[in-house]
Amino acid sequence: MKVAIFPAGKDGKKLYSILRGQANVEVCSFVDNAPSEEKGMIMEGLSIPVITPNEVKLQMVEGNIDKVLVCSAKVLSHFLDDMLRQLKELNISDYYIVPSYIFRKEQWDETDFRNIFTKQDEFSQLQHVQFHISDCCNLNCRRCQHFSNIADNPRFPSFEKVKGDFQRLRELFCDINRIAILGGEPFLNPELYRYCVMLRELFPYSFIDIITNGLLVRNMNEKLISAIRDNDIIVNISFYPVLEPVKEQLTRFLKEQRVRYVFGTKIETFSKKMMLEGNENPEKQFYECRDRCCTMLRDGKLYPCYLPATVSIFNNHFGTKIEAGNSAIDIYDAGITGRQILERLRKSFDICRYCTYDETYPWEQTKCACMDDWIVCRQNSSGNCK
Ligand code: SF4
Ligand code: SF4
Repeated sequence: MKVAIFPAGKDGKKLYSILRGQANVEVCSFVDNAPSEEKGMIMEGLSIPVITPNEVKLQMVEGNIDKVLVCSAKVLSHFLDDMLRQLKELNISDYYIVPSYIFRKEQWDETDFRNIFTKQDEFSQLQHVQFHISDCCNLNCRRCQHFSNIADNPRFPSFEKVKGDFQRLRELFCDINRIAILGGEPFLNPELYRYCVMLRELFPYSFIDIITNGLLVRNMNEKLISAIRDNDIIVNISFYPVLEPVKEQLTRFLKEQRVRYVFGTKIETFSKKMMLEGNENPEKQFYECRDRCCTMLRDGKLYPCYLPATVSIFNNHFGTKIEAGNSAIDIYDAGITGRQILERLRKSFDICRYCTYDETYPWEQTKCACMDDWIVCRQNSSGNCK
């Protein structure tokens, strides 16, 4: 079988090395939206051509490539969805999706080699799931998308209930590519170490990270440090301006503790995109949305993103009635399957009509939260809000 691997880069090269030596598979090319010779360079003297998705279509028509192998290990939530959309637009249906766990193993058995060739209609991996372990936050950014600066109670979920939900996800899906522990600020929850241990036990090959503003990271006790380090959890630091003076100490601390970490690029701006009227086209908004694959777990339900999962915080605070509508998928519904959930998550939700185009503002902390911090005011030609 002559195959092309989509995309090139780290994952593509890893898959190439796994498949090397398989007598019945010949890797003919890598597919990438930004092809470059460097991306195809496997080692000195061995280079695989890197072609665009349009070119792969031609090569398939000419019989030079039989199948595309689509890698699913990238942790950017919409990356796989973007690649599959591209193949669909090109009418390419001859492809397999390679589960993410393949890229995180060091040795592969017969089952793994079979799983590399997973048909699209058999692929039951959830790409991304995020969940709050604290609704509140110690930074209180103005326009916080998750409404943590107006969350009235320091709501920590019940650990046992969340554990039950993840056990249920384990039954429903063959795997989860990325699990993001977030809030609010996750380091406020004294049970964070239990989440690290529980998640790694259930999902040995998932990319698991804690999204934090970093302010409490240096207060970690030994128990938490070893739970993070020993379970290969990544501390993913959002780089807000308030962190600038302590960035060096923080980095040194994490290195000394041998904890894996990522520092995001500096956050200078925040945006808002909600409207009260709810009269946007939900399909269009969903299709263009970068958050559409940031699946959120809350109280036994999966949501397409943060908004329907947390909008009750906004409604409770301001007395509004933005409805989550049909956006909740109950993971305990009798007879529901992981495949059905994945299908549902690919289509727009009623609440998407409350999202519009981003308005961007400089980042700042909250002085006094008001509804306009989240609500975009669309103006008509006379200057009045529509
Ligand atoms: S640090 Fe994150 S969770 Fe906390 S208020 Fe800011 S945006 Fe919200
Ligand atoms: S509600 Fe829909 S459009 Fe709005 S952020 Fe969520 S997925 Fe995107």
